Amino acid sequence: MSRSVKPTPLTRSALWHRALGLIPGGVNSPVRAMRGVGLDEPFFVARGKGAHIETTDGRRLLDWVQSWGPLIFGHADGETIEAVRAAALEGTTFGAPTEREVDLAQEIVDAVPSVERVRLVSSGTEAAMSAVRLARAATRRDRVIKFAGCYHGHADQFLASAGSGLATLGIPSSPGVPSGVTADTVVCEYNDVDGVAAAVERYGEGLAAILVEPVAGNMGCVPPAPGFLEALRLLCDASGALLIFDEVISGFRVARGGAQERLGVLPDLTILGKIVGGGLPLAAFGGSAELMVQLAPSGSVYQAGTLSGNPLATAAGLSVLRRLRDGAVYEQLELRAARLADGLAPFGRVQRVGAMLTLFAGRDEPVERFTDLDAETYGELFRGLLERGIYVAPSQYECVFPSIAHCEAEIDATIEAVGDVLGR
Ligand SMILES: *Cc1c(COP(=O)(O)O)cnc(C)c1O
Repeated sequence: MSRSVKPTPLTRSALWHRALGLIPGGVNSPVRAMRGVGLDEPFFVARGKGAHIETTDGRRLLDWVQSWGPLIFGHADGETIEAVRAAALEGTTFGAPTEREVDLAQEIVDAVPSVERVRLVSSGTEAAMSAVRLARAATRRDRVIKFAGCYHGHADQFLASAGSGLATLGIPSSPGVPSGVTADTVVCEYNDVDGVAAAVERYGEGLAAILVEPVAGNMGCVPPAPGFLEALRLLCDASGALLIFDEVISGFRVARGGAQERLGVLPDLTILGKIVGGGLPLAAFGGSAELMVQLAPSGSVYQAGTLSGNPLATAAGLSVLRRLRDGAVYEQLELRAARLADGLAPFGRVQRVGAMLTLFAGRDEPVERFTDLDAETYGELFRGLLERGIYVAPSQYECVFPSIAHCEAEIDATIEAVGDVLGR
């Protein structure tokens, strides 16, 4: 068969084998292979609408992943599609200023309490990398404290694990990452104020920033312990380091102004992604005018992007963010997430902040840090739910993301299915 002839639709396995022959591991981001939950091959998504996706083999699944958080109004949201379609008709990229970039910046500055100036980029990885560069430039220091279990994208400096012993310099957690790069990344335990204080004591003079997810969403949902973020704020102020909140998940989700609005602790720099792009590749970082003007071209800190502030992405982002001015959206999200959390509570420990939550099945004690986690039984729950037409993240280290498209019946069906799988 000629390569250019469109073949009859492949079965899932045939498609998977074709992918394996062309793409490393068959996927463009590792978790999509669903290997961690014991699947031999993932499903392929053909389309989505609202709370549901449909696979290429014709299964309709209730989707609690929602592309890992961006889709606050669900799949194929009508207003977003119209905005993107209208934008596309006028040209997909210019690499020159467009009005919607200014409108989207306005929307972000209005919403996020600590942000006076914002720059748009194309991924959370890029936003985190750029924010840390700016923090290093502004403080003229190199070291960064991050937390085990927090994710900030895949830039070299963030792929660090704790070295042996307390508050030691990081070691690479992936081949290909130079040890010289992670040597400036100090990895602490989330919610461990004493550990961070010890690290600041040791490295304070050279410390550029403390980088944290103000509500952790990449080790399941782990809320900050009372006083944790406040302590980070004080440690930064005392040492001259900048506090950076990675609100890629929590931004526009736990409140319109993110965790900083909901919890009342203000960072120096904020990283945004996921919801801010309305389901298109767009992310952002922002902070005070004084800090942000240090970026080129007003300042000397280099940062750039051919597709930054892309016209389709700004159209999608604006369409979503404008609707999020309405507080009723957050009331609805809160109600739905609470209904799901309450319903799941009999099956283990449920941790929730706004519309991000995780069930740690069969567990009583809280999960406060990465070392508390046990993901061993999760695969069973995942596979059981998938058999029942419900798709949750193929990893225990993730959240459930209720959207405006998830109605009560779907929430209740999910609770029932979890009970069914767990045999209760
Ligand atoms: C998803 C995520 C990122 C990375 O964003 P990408 O767009 O995937 O590069 C960074 N930080 C947090 C907290 C995230 O959840």
